[in-house]
Order: sequence, then C-alpha cells, then structure tokens
Amino acid sequence: LNVFRQPIMAGNWKMNPTTESDALNLAIGFCALVDTLEDTCGLDESDTCTEVVLFPPFPFISKVKDIVSEKGVTVGAQQVYYEDKGAFTGSVAASMVKSVGCEYVLCGHSERRTLFSDSDVNINAKVKKVLEFGMKPILCIGETQEEYDLGITEEVCAMQVSKDLAGVSKKDLENVVLAYEPVWAIGTGLVCDAEDANKVHKFIRTVLAKMYDEEAAQSIRIQYGGSVTPESVDGLMAMSDIDGCLVGGASLFSDKFARICNFK
Ligand code: PGA
Repeated sequence: LNVFRQPIMAGNWKMNPTTESDALNLAIGFCALVDTLEDTCGLDESDTCTEVVLFPPFPFISKVKDIVSEKGVTVGAQQVYYEDKGAFTGSVAASMVKSVGCEYVLCGHSERRTLFSDSDVNINAKVKKVLEFGMKPILCIGETQEEYDLGITEEVCAMQVSKDLAGVSKKDLENVVLAYEPVWAIGTGLVCDAEDANKVHKFIRTVLAKMYDEEAAQSIRIQYGGSVTPESVDGLMAMSDIDGCLVGGASLFSDKFARICNFK
C-alpha cells in the first residue's frame, strides 16, 4: 500500500514569547526566511510541499495568523477544553479558537499531561471536540524517561493511541495528525535517534492497523517531536515513517525554524 503523506512541520511556541510585540516580530522574521507553499509550490496534487503550522499562545493567535497567512502558513491552538461553553474560568473552548482561524489544536502534549493533569479520558474528549468543530487535532504521545528505561515504549504508545482515539471513526481519523514525542527528548537537547524514532512510528502504524485498517494506518501523518534542530531535521525526515516534526525550542528562532521547515 503506497500512500502519499504531505510533510507537516509545526512550531509549538509554548508560553513564549512573553509580549505581543515579540510574538509578532517572531512571526514576521519567520515569514521573511521560510519558503512555503505560496512561494515554491504549484497546484499540482503530486506536489510535495510542506505544510507549516504555528502554535502561538492564545492572545497572539489572531495577529500571528494575519501575518503568516500570506505565506500559506496556518495557526493552531496549544490546547482547548472539552466543554462547549459556560462556567469554566480560565478555559478556552474549541469554537473560540475555530472562530479566530485555528485549523489545528494540540491534544495531549506531555506538558499538559504532567503539569495540568490531562488524563487519557480528557484527551480523548478534547480530540473529539476538536474534530466536531472541524479542526484537526495533533495528538501527542510518547514514553517518559522511566518508561523508556523500563523498555515499555511500545506498550505506552499503544495504550495512549487506543485510549486517546477511542470512538474516533475512520473518516475522522483522516483529520488527525499524531506526534510521537518521547518525553525524555523534549526540551533536553537529547534528540531521539532517527532510526529508533522510525521504529516507533512503524509500530504506531501497526496499532492503528488493528484499530482501523491498513489504509488508515498508512495514511495518517506521524510527526516526531523532541529537541528537533536544523542539525537533526534532515536525518529524521529521511526516515520512511516520519512525516514531519513538532518543534518547541527551535521554533522560537526564526532562522532555525525556517531551516527546519525547508528540510532537505
Ligand atoms: P522541544 O519541544 O523541541 O523544545 O524539545 C518539543 C515539544 O514539546 O513539542
């Protein structure tokens, strides 16, 4: 089964930059350096243009979108709540980020799982809510250092995939992107070996083949995330089952993230 998977690069700014002007300058600087869809790609369907998505903090999403949309870059939200509206002080609903132009929402990022107690049950509800509102979840999974040391990476990923995607139809899965992010590689400078990451990506596809079917397993895009840099991106993207990267730290430098998006 030979399917085409469009590469997708995502910049997760997390709780950075700390002011609106710094955020807009980062977006402007990135646009000046990156070659994207709008510059280099035609309308040919066989085109292998890379999709690029930025995840700014909530207050900056609209203005960043206005800046980057002319480059064909889209924006997403770093998280949403699973309820539609109401008395949930401090929370942001899927409809809200949709209405300011978000196309993607990160779900299950390890920082949300550990620092904000996001459980697989909650993450599953959020994934479904994002899909219900016509946006695309990027579902993040991956083992902790402790789980890595115990040699249970595959078990952890299989469990997260099955719980977080429970009840998601095959049709809806077409709008889901996965991100394999070994927690020990996030923000540590310890990028996962490309071959090792590729093995996990292949394993994740076998899990999806059992849950759905082979076509669904081969069609879904799986990003790698965790200390991706301009130095490591080309080796990662050369792998058969790595379809893009979810980038934290390096996405805060316009030159680094532009180089990552224009991987070779
Ligand atoms: P990092 O973060 O690139 O800084 O390791 C990745 C992520 O958390 O998505």
